[in-house]
Amino acid sequence: MEFTREELLTKDPILPAMAAGEEVFWSNKKARPAAEAQGEMPLTLADIRDADARLRRFAPFLMVQFPETRPRGGLIESPLTPIPNMKAALEAQLGLPIPPALLLKQDSHLAIAGSVKARGGIYEVLKHTETLAMEHGLLRESDDYAKLATPEMRAFFSRYTVQVGSTGNLGMSIGIASAAVGYQVIVHMSADAKQWKKDLLRAHGVQVVEYASDYGEAVKQGRARSDADPKSYFVDDENSKDLFLGYAVAALRLKDQLDEQGIPVDSAHPLVVTIPCGVGGAPGGVTFGLKQVFGDNVYCFFAEPVQCPSMLVGMATGLHSAVCVQDIGLTGRTEADGLACARPSGFVGKVMEPLVSGEVTVADERLKPWLRMLHRSEGIFLEPSACAGFRGVTALYGTPEGRAWLQQAGLAGKLDQAAHIVWATGGALVPEDIRKAYLEETL
Ligand SMILES: *Cc1c(COP(=O)(O)O)cnc(C)c1O
Repeated sequence: MEFTREELLTKDPILPAMAAGEEVFWSNKKARPAAEAQGEMPLTLADIRDADARLRRFAPFLMVQFPETRPRGGLIESPLTPIPNMKAALEAQLGLPIPPALLLKQDSHLAIAGSVKARGGIYEVLKHTETLAMEHGLLRESDDYAKLATPEMRAFFSRYTVQVGSTGNLGMSIGIASAAVGYQVIVHMSADAKQWKKDLLRAHGVQVVEYASDYGEAVKQGRARSDADPKSYFVDDENSKDLFLGYAVAALRLKDQLDEQGIPVDSAHPLVVTIPCGVGGAPGGVTFGLKQVFGDNVYCFFAEPVQCPSMLVGMATGLHSAVCVQDIGLTGRTEADGLACARPSGFVGKVMEPLVSGEVTVADERLKPWLRMLHRSEGIFLEPSACAGFRGVTALYGTPEGRAWLQQAGLAGKLDQAAHIVWATGGALVPEDIRKAYLEETL
């Protein structure tokens, strides 16, 4: 790092509080009108539609390999659920009203991987599969992709390897999807990864390599091992455009769901979205998609743990992947394993600069109480990382900084007509005994 900690802390007024491990609300001064930002984007709405079309081509294959995708015709999509009882519980906690329409986007309950990683991770494995099969003359776009599930095809793919570095959920998504295609799979897992996630992967025949170090090191080692093998493909969470596009497809689907539920999004009816953020790919891809679809009428905030706000350190200093949370003296350690990425994606940070409205950080102590509050009030179970998005609600409507932002963005007078979506990013695969321990406060 070319800057000392003290020099870094002068780069934005928010940084000293972050370095002290405090919860912050940060508004992004570089956010620009969607039409202006559009010109600088490395990807377009056409790229998102192309990704959506590819996922639809794979639907027959997914229905064969993952029967749980059949009710949605082979599409991996999650419910958008109003949570009025959770809203009431949060209002009681805050002692303040929050906008009437509070909804949960339940990516926690996506088929196959039980987390938001089912979007990006599975998309990237499928795209690689399509490319490989087409290069070898085994597949045409007009084919029924169910043929990819035949024993001959699986034998072909078994000659290839897919590798990825992960704190847990990306490994599960890539691991389960790759094993279903027939690949050899190696997942490089950081020390933060929960034991049950490693166990589940091994049960799918995935080779799990464990590291005593953090996520950045697991990625580095995984990339090196994969690069040394010409038949190995590395899913690069820190830079992948395919992962990003897989996440972005969520926006097209969300638009349909909002239409179906009669929830308008326009200048009189703003949409506010808060998404937990780790390395940045998932929230970045979703935000990119939402800005393409809803333009200036959607406002996206990321939520990160107070000890591991890597994307915010990158954005506030303007240094993106050249800086990590340890550079400002934070530990990088958090109960929110899915968010435990100490260094942000450089690619995503730069794309987000004109798009994201702001960020909040959240203390670990809040996550499990929200996990239990949601379960009590709505009967929905999330993993701790996925509860970080609720800080977007309590910080926006319940802190002076949040309310100042609402005023300045012109939203304060429109909140009665606004919708707020908390993006729930994981939870469905948490095993019963661990789920019980969270709910009974023994974990
Ligand atoms: C991966 C993950 C995120 C954040 O995604 P990034 O691409 O790392 O920013 C959020 N929540 C959960 C549960 C995750 O697994």
